[in-house]
Amino acid sequence: MPYDKDNIFARIVRGEIPCHKVYEDTDTLAFMDIMPQAEGHTLVVPKAAGEDIFTTPPDSVAAAIRTAQKVARAIKKAFSPPGVMVAQLNGPAAGQSVFHLHFHVIPRYTGKDLGIHAADPADPAALAAHAARIRAAL
Ligand code: 5GP
Repeated sequence: MPYDKDNIFARIVRGEIPCHKVYEDTDTLAFMDIMPQAEGHTLVVPKAAGEDIFTTPPDSVAAAIRTAQKVARAIKKAFSPPGVMVAQLNGPAAGQSVFHLHFHVIPRYTGKDLGIHAADPADPAALAAHAARIRAAL
């Protein structure tokens, strides 16, 4: 599948669609997932085009994982979850639904199942509050 330059994350990176921003630098952007699988579920994307781990330039993947580490540390500080999951899906068979490479950074709690993937839109006010908590912990 060729990269669609108008996919939702490319549009968020270009500022054409709003997001609850957590962090931004020259190469990457982190923002709240609008259908979080746990409170604090954050997405990290490289700004450069690339649909998945196979086609995204290695420097962009590296930049995104560096930002994912920053965000994971901030989530740990902000929400104090006992666990934090970092996930990255490639291809529909793996569950990928947006074809611009991204890492999911998700707080995890003992005995608590992960919410359903990309299913339940969260209250925008809650997303804004969670983004503010994570930003304050960066
Ligand atoms: P994937 O299935 O590709 O690994 O994950 C895509 C993620 O993007 C899902 O968790 C889904 O909830 C999230 N998502 C889909 N559309 C939007 C959107 O417009 N804005 C934001 N912030 N997240 C989105």
